[in-house]
Amino acid sequence: MVWQDVIPRVNIAFKITNWCNLCCAHCMERSSIKEPFNLMPIAQIEKYIAQYVNMGVPVWDYVVFTGGESMAPYYIGQGKYIRTLAELCAKNNVSPCFKTNAMWGKRLLLCDSVLKDLADVAHKYDRQVLLDISIDEYHDNFLPAANVVSQIMNSQYLIDAIPVSFVGLNTVASQCKFQEFLDVLKSYGISVDAQTTPADEFMITKGDKANVMFYDVGGLTRLGRAADNNIVTARPASGVEHSGGSDCLEITNNNQAILNYKYKTTMDNKTVGEAYNELLQKKR
Ligand code: SF4
Repeated sequence: MVWQDVIPRVNIAFKITNWCNLCCAHCMERSSIKEPFNLMPIAQIEKYIAQYVNMGVPVWDYVVFTGGESMAPYYIGQGKYIRTLAELCAKNNVSPCFKTNAMWGKRLLLCDSVLKDLADVAHKYDRQVLLDISIDEYHDNFLPAANVVSQIMNSQYLIDAIPVSFVGLNTVASQCKFQEFLDVLKSYGISVDAQTTPADEFMITKGDKANVMFYDVGGLTRLGRAADNNIVTARPASGVEHSGGSDCLEITNNNQAILNYKYKTTMDNKTVGEAYNELLQKKR
């Protein structure tokens, strides 16, 4: 048995910007195009990743980048920022995971550029770069997301480099949306076969190319616009959603550390380990 399956691990996520090109009703960050673009400084992320992988406690083998929209830098010609983050992870022996609404998938040249950048890093360091796309009842991103999957399925170079996963909400409406999304993929000539019951792992094929796709669901967190809009499916933040007791430590671009969407502290001059231990005390 692999130790990661039984020992709770700490997962780190960097909220690199609060800017987003969407303005979803359920956004726990109140992200939108009106939010400041400021990107978390690369030197800071580099320092925190090095501290994270050396914390001396079990940590996930990938680092999450989210926002806002994690691919925001590409919209202002700063794709190098994302490539650098991916390289920082690879050099520290963890994989980067970019959470995205995938709206960049509707611009074919931009889509090509993002996927090529990520794949180049993956191949250079022999470490996959993960894409995690939100598909739920509040997003309207079927076509861009399907374009991204289709582009990947056109190229063995991309298939080898970029596993795609989808994250949704545990509501009936959201899971119906995901089924509709699978139909969109089929209309792109992509065959989708569930490998598990319930269906959260799929074999996808296009022509002679095959790939594996994952689907994960979670609850809404009653923060930000989800609270403003009193989204009925929201659940109070509790941290209990994290399987196996694993903790989710988020670091924001205004230098706050947040544990399990609930306990907060400022980073000031703390290391990641110091902030995590401080927040663990609050959790207890
Ligand atoms: S939920 Fe995601 S895609 Fe929607 S506004 Fe918030 S960050 Fe953007």
